[in-house]
This record gives sequence, C-alpha cells and structure tokens, in this order.
Amino acid sequence: MRLIQHHPGLPWPRLQRDEKVACEFCDAVQSAPRLREGEAAFCVHCGELLYQNRPNSLSRATGFSIAALIFMGMAHSFPFLSMSAAGNRNELTLIGCVEALAADDAPLLACLCLIFTVIAPLLLTTALLYLCGPLMIGRALPGAKQVARALQASEPWSMLEVFLLGFIVSLMKLGDVAEIQFHIGLAALVAVVVSIAGATGGIDRRELWDRLELANAR
Ligand SMILES: [Zn+2]
Repeated sequence: MRLIQHHPGLPWPRLQRDEKVACEFCDAVQSAPRLREGEAAFCVHCGELLYQNRPNSLSRATGFSIAALIFMGMAHSFPFLSMSAAGNRNELTLIGCVEALAADDAPLLACLCLIFTVIAPLLLTTALLYLCGPLMIGRALPGAKQVARALQASEPWSMLEVFLLGFIVSLMKLGDVAEIQFHIGLAALVAVVVSIAGATGGIDRRELWDRLELANAR
C-alpha cells in the first residue's frame, strides 16, 4: 500500500515494517499498518480507534489556529453584547466580564474566568501554531517538545465553549428584565470556538509527536 505523504520524506505513521501497537483500551498488541490520508486503524479486539492519518492535518491545524487567533483579537476588541435596563446601558467584553467579577467581590471567579476563557484558549492556539506551522516544512522550533507537553496539559482547560453555553443560558433569563443587543464580538467568539475545535481536532496527538520526533532527528 502506498502512503500518501503530506510532504516528501515525512510519512506518517512513522512505523517500521514490523512495528506493533498496543490498544490503549484493551491492551491487545497487534500489527500497525501504515495509513493513507483519511484512513484510521481500529483495534482488532475491541474495535476502538488506534490512530488515524487525518487529511491535511498540519495545514488544517495551522490554518484553524491562525483563524482562531484573528477571531480572538476581534472578540477582545469588540463588545459582544449591550444591555439596557432602567436607563443604564452596559457594553460587555470578555475582559469586561472578568473585571466586573473582580469588582463584584468575586476575585476567584474572575481568575477562573480569565484562565479558562482567555489564557487557556490563547495558549492552546499559540502552541498549536508554534508546533504545526514549522512542521509543515519538516522543522521543529526550539523547545517544541516542551510546548507539545504544555499543549496537552492545557487542552482540557480551554472552556470557551462552556462559557458560551452558560452565557446563552443566562441571556435567556436576562432577556426578561433587560433589553439586549448583540454585537460583532459575539460572532467572533463563536468563530473562536469553532476555529479552536477545528485546530485541535485537525491533528492526531500521536501523529504530532511522531512528526516532532522526525523533525528533531533531521
Ligand atoms: Zn482494543
């Protein structure tokens, strides 16, 4: 079977001819075939996914990361909603929410909001870009492995989509007492969530590590 390569000299999975893999779910050891782009290997015993060769993985992860960063800039520059109640009009931004929480005697909540909705998504996308961009030409930047480790650690902490969901739920309640207007920042926020999902889902973690090792070995 011929492996379709993203780039010459950079096949994936980088498995040797007789290499075996162990299933993460049932520990069954089995031979590991090389995959064409778009194919996936499943466990012969329990049927769980072993690894996959996602199409255009590097360019997808890179492209979506760049898009996410641009939309993040927009989401922070423009308010996502304004509220009018009893003659008061408030415009809300993501950072504004954090400031409001801090001013409202909820410093812990403000910190968590800042970490989960601003810092973690930013770290996640910058790390992906730092890794996947140079890998497109088979290179790894200094400290790439540490960045990859940090990326895996920060992944579960990016909760922008949770924020968005909670935000929509609270809007439904607020709608009764205040007049609410949506702004461009909200569209940008939704675009950030979609782009981050595209970026993190773009590349298999095992593939990322394999490619990093290949690039370091060159
Ligand atoms: Zn299995």
